[in-house]
Amino acid sequence: MSTISMDRPIHEVVRGEEGAVRVEVDRMACAGHGQCSATAPAVYELDDDGFCLPVAAVPPGAEDDAEAGAAACPEQAIEVAP
Ligand code: SF4
Repeated sequence: MSTISMDRPIHEVVRGEEGAVRVEVDRMACAGHGQCSATAPAVYELDDDGFCLPVAAVPPGAEDDAEAGAAACPEQAIEVAP
């Protein structure tokens, strides 16, 4: 069973570079299902416990993948905004 380590930030907002979308991952809501990464591995990476890591920047052209990964999250822990 995974536990939430205390060094995991509760909430992270990382803004992508100009022209890219912004991805916001609520790491407290993340339950480690891994569906984001399974759906869009170019955008979402997981830590060793299967929780979503912060998204530094959405690669150019991967905006739709970012949206698909967010939609796949059962916890609705990901928001994608322009
Ligand atoms: S799909 Fe949602 S709950 Fe699962 S790892 Fe990704 S952000 Fe976390």
